[in-house]
Amino acid sequence: MVHWSPFVSLNKRYPWVQLAGHAGNFQAGEYGRLLKRYCECEQLCLSKLMGDILRPYVPGYYGVVQRDEQDYNLMDDLLADFDSPSIMDCKMGSRTYLAEELLKARERPRLRRDMYEKMVAVDPGAPTDQERAQQGILKPRYMQWRETLSSTATLGFRIEGIKRADGTCNTNFKKTKHREQVMQALGDFVDGNIQILKVYLQRLEELRSVLEKSQFFRTHEVVGSSLLFVHDASGQARVWMIDFGKTVPLPAPLTLDHRTPWIEGNCEDGYLWGLDNLIDILSTMLPS
Ligand code: ATP
Ligand code: MG
Ligand code: MG
Repeated sequence: MVHWSPFVSLNKRYPWVQLAGHAGNFQAGEYGRLLKRYCECEQLCLSKLMGDILRPYVPGYYGVVQRDEQDYNLMDDLLADFDSPSIMDCKMGSRTYLAEELLKARERPRLRRDMYEKMVAVDPGAPTDQERAQQGILKPRYMQWRETLSSTATLGFRIEGIKRADGTCNTNFKKTKHREQVMQALGDFVDGNIQILKVYLQRLEELRSVLEKSQFFRTHEVVGSSLLFVHDASGQARVWMIDFGKTVPLPAPLTLDHRTPWIEGNCEDGYLWGLDNLIDILSTMLPS
């Protein structure tokens, strides 16, 4: 679902657009800034990122503010410099739950009928014979199965939502899994504009080389974070990292390369593996 925010900034000719998350989580701020419902994890990450070489690739962060007794993280609205922008949210990584969430899901295991039903609704062939007999599944199994529906498990990223300049929106990418499907969606997003694709590709290659050097990135498990793609008719196209609600510091001296496949205990998130795949896909969409 796409949320068309009720607020329209004075300096903008379009309503602010939110492609994921809960509708009540965001508020308009002043001076092209945005308020996102407070989350301590995100506060810590954004603060650290302001002192890391990744700073140009994340929204500027201005601390915690209160409005109507609710705390918010105050950050730059990345759409502010665009005119009728096209926007895409790509959730990065080969899994979208934290290792600790999986451990928690394993405590006091019980069969979940609700999750079984959700699974059957999406894919009647997914449950095993045993699960079918029990009419229930365990939560860890459900969490891992869900990642295999989209391209998360196979490509290390998935498209969460796309809003095009013409106003059309699509957040129905839960089963967009194969390379060809992803290419189709990306091609639609840029409306076949090769120049925009080139600028995105260049920005992603730049980001990759900065990620490979970043102290912050090396020392954090980055899960559920997205790349926000924004372009408009002027030809301006940029990509930022957003959503650090599930980005957690690693216990020292552990570091990640973000490419090694995840096995339990290594905390690898597949972020750079996903970025490699995304860069590769965009490259093959350009005429050689
Ligand atoms: P979820 O965890 O379900 O992905 P969330 O509540 O953590 O959601 P985000 O993912 O941070 O929220 O943001 C949701 C959407 O809001 C993004 O897809 C994007 O469209 C928009 N958004 C978030 N941060 C910004 C920003 N700084 N500038 C412009 N748009 C933003
Ligand atoms: Mg998000
Ligand atoms: Mg989030």
